[in-house]
Order: sequence, then structure tokens, then C-alpha cells
Amino acid sequence: MPKVRTRFAPSPTGFLHLGSARTALYNWAFARHHGGDFVLRIEDTDRERSTLESEKGLIEGLEWLGLDWDEGPHRQTDQAHRHTEVIDQLLASGAAYRCACTKQELEERKEATVARGEKWTYDGRCRDAGHGPECGEHTVRLRLPPEGLLGWDDLIFGPSGQDASEIGDKIIRRSDGGALYHLTVVVDDIDMGITHVIRGADHVPNTPFQIAIYRALDIAPPIFAHVPLIVGPGGKKLSKRRDPVAIEQFRAEGYLADGMRNWLVRIGWSSGDEEIFSRDEIIDKFDLDHVGRSSAQADPDKLAWVNHQHIKTLDMEALIDQLEPFLAELLGHGIARGPRLERVVDLMRDRGKTLVELAEQCAILLREEVDLAAESAQKAVKKHLKPSALPLVEALTARLTGLDEAHWNEAGLEQVFEAICAENGDLKLGKLAQPVRVAVTGGPVSPGIYETLALIGRASCLERLGAALELMRERAASA
Ligand code: GLU
Repeated sequence: MPKVRTRFAPSPTGFLHLGSARTALYNWAFARHHGGDFVLRIEDTDRERSTLESEKGLIEGLEWLGLDWDEGPHRQTDQAHRHTEVIDQLLASGAAYRCACTKQELEERKEATVARGEKWTYDGRCRDAGHGPECGEHTVRLRLPPEGLLGWDDLIFGPSGQDASEIGDKIIRRSDGGALYHLTVVVDDIDMGITHVIRGADHVPNTPFQIAIYRALDIAPPIFAHVPLIVGPGGKKLSKRRDPVAIEQFRAEGYLADGMRNWLVRIGWSSGDEEIFSRDEIIDKFDLDHVGRSSAQADPDKLAWVNHQHIKTLDMEALIDQLEPFLAELLGHGIARGPRLERVVDLMRDRGKTLVELAEQCAILLREEVDLAAESAQKAVKKHLKPSALPLVEALTARLTGLDEAHWNEAGLEQVFEAICAENGDLKLGKLAQPVRVAVTGGPVSPGIYETLALIGRASCLERLGAALELMRERAASA
């Protein structure tokens, strides 16, 4: 078998879509698995709709997902001379011909055909007219055989194809001289030595005509693998409005590239009942024989779960690298790296399925100020900073004030809490811990109280307890 060469060939007319990202991933994984090359080709021949901004976004998305390419990005418009050359060659061999039918004429004939209840394909009026370059405004069409299967053995769908009679002589060059998609994609795949074309099943209707171009050029087509489309939960078509479909959006929502890649690869592909795959494991295990034929569902709950598995096991350094921007955004300032941050992240990584959630959890321990008057704190304040808890919190605060920096650690804090509980008729720890937790974090949930106080630090804790006491006294006075 010759060296595998795959390509991802996006049109730069929008953002990197979930479906395209998975197509890129499958091409990349297939090439890597077989020790081949993965080529990036930007199909920018639609000049009106192609933008550099979109191209940049596509490239950033691929880079973020860790899908590195061996060649490219090639730009299809850079190959325009080759497209012209091949069209000229097809004209010279008689495999293509000039068509002088105007848009309006075509429209009229099409309408009449459809009115008779028949399917329209080009009726071949100019096929044998022998128009030369001087025939005026014209397009170029590929001459298809009148009948015969334009078929291929799809790596996913098996024997596939359509009869030439159902397709008709399609245009390969517009009247302005621009080559059309079917022609450009075939020429570029030939020139780039692509061995496997892995693309969405929405391209299945395009393949027979492209096979006809290969035949006209007397070149063996690559192997085709059409991947079933991704659908939303319940099997519904994905909708840009309803469903998150832009890779950059998932990224902004705090999914890890590792989680995203893992989730994407599993939409439509399986390897036994394994769910969690690192980048290397994907390369090791991915092949097309376990890509299913039915449309695959994108399940957001599954993404959250898969992502969480990666958050739980990611190397600390790498996790902090990715978490940092989310944390800085939430806190409004950067945060020093070091053992304290690592401890906080380690305590919290079980509680955040995304980087956004993880940052929110870490912020509980890392924020510089707690505002008990904030709307978000009200429920916990009402419930736990009750006037009845005042004597307890007062006693504890007095004792904690006497605990010096050197003893402000889990063991030291535990002793103080236990003493206060013992002095108050063997009070349950929770009765004491909960008001303290709300006082120092502004909310009712945090890791163990000793760990929480140790990580927030002595000065901040005492200051926050002071503010909470003030608030409790005010509540007691106005009760
Ligand atoms: N540029 C085409 C697209 O974005 C892909 C062409 C192909 O994969 O053959 O849909």
C-alpha cells in the first residue's frame, strides 16, 4: 500500500463546525495511525464568501485540537493555473465541451422538464455543437457517458454509486473562467497525491461526478470514506441556533482540547467499550473499520463527562496552564503559581466538569474579598449567619485570633474547633463549621473547613470573620 495521504479541505466561509472538526480529526487520526501524511488545504475558490478571518479561525481551531498537519495550508486559489490547464486538457481530448446555453435558456428548459414531472439534468444541447473558444460567453461541461455506474467501494458504506444518466453533464468552468468545486477538488487531490478522501456523508451525491472526472483524466480515484453526519440529541439535525456547534464556543465554555477531541472521535467511532482516549491512544487505535453507518449523536452530557475525566487526570502543570485565563477572568486578576494554587486545583478538580466550573470552584478559595452583602450570598447568609450562631462564632473568632501564623494549618485549626465544640456541650462540628464557611467563602459549599481556612490564610479569614460578626450583630440588634 502506498503511503497514506489524507487531507482536510475546509472552505473558509465560517467558523470551525463540530462536523468539520470531526472530519479533520478522522483524517488526521487515520493518517497518523498509518504513518502517513495529513494535508491542510483551504478551499477558497468562492472568493465572495471566503474570508481570511474564517481561515484564521479554522487554523486556530485545528491547532487547539492538536491536529497538526504535515503540509499546508495550501490555498486552492494558488492552484488556479493547474485547474485551467486540466480543463484545457479535457477540452482538447473531447472529454469536455463548451456550452453556450444561457442561464435563461437553461432555466426555461428546466422548468418545462420539471413541469412534465421529469427530473432535470443538462439535456446535452451543446454536447456535439463543437463550439470553439470564439463561441461567445460559455461554460465548460464534462461529457458524461450516457449511462453506466459511476461507482466506488466506500470504506464506510461499501459499494456505492449512481448511474451516469441520472447526473448529466455538469459545469466544470463558469463563464467567467473560474473552475468549479468538482474540478478543483479532483485536480488538487490528484496533485497532492491524496490516497484517502474522508469526508462528511453530505458529499456522497458529489462523488459520482468526481469519479467521472477521474475517469476522463484516466487517473485512478482515491479511496473514499464518507462519514455519517452528526445529529443532535434525539436524532434531530444540528441547528446553529439551538445547538452549540462552533469549536471556539466549546473552547470558550471551558472544554479541554483533550476532552473535545476525545468526545469528537467517539461520535461515530468506537473501540470496544472504551470511552477515554488520549491523543496518543487515538492515533494508536483509530481506524475506519469501526466507524458506523448510521448518523451519530452529539450528546452534550457525554461531552461534560468525558471532559471531566480529562480534567481529573490531566497533569497539574498543563491543567493550570489552561485554567489560568478562566481564573484570571473570574477573579479580575492573575494568580501566583505555586503550591497553594496547586493544592486548590487539586482539591477542586473533582468538582468542575469544565474549566469554567473549575475556575468558579477555585475562586471560592482564591478570591481576595468576600462580599456578604452580595445578592449571591444572601441565601447562605440568612440561613447560616443567624443571630443564634453569634456567641459561637464570637468565641471561635477570639480563639482563632490567638492562633499564630505558624499554627494556622489543618492540625492547629482542628484543635481550636474541637475545643469550641467541647466547650459548647459537645456541639456537632457542622453547627460551627457552616457559619464559618459562609463567613469566609460567602457560600455554603467548600472543601473541609480546616483545609478551607488554611488555604484562605489567617489574615483574610480573621478579617472576614470580623465582617461576619458585625453583620450578625446588626441582625441580632434589629431582630
Ligand atoms: N471544501 C469542501 C467543504 O468544505 C470539502 C471538499 C471535500 O472534502 O471534498 O465542504
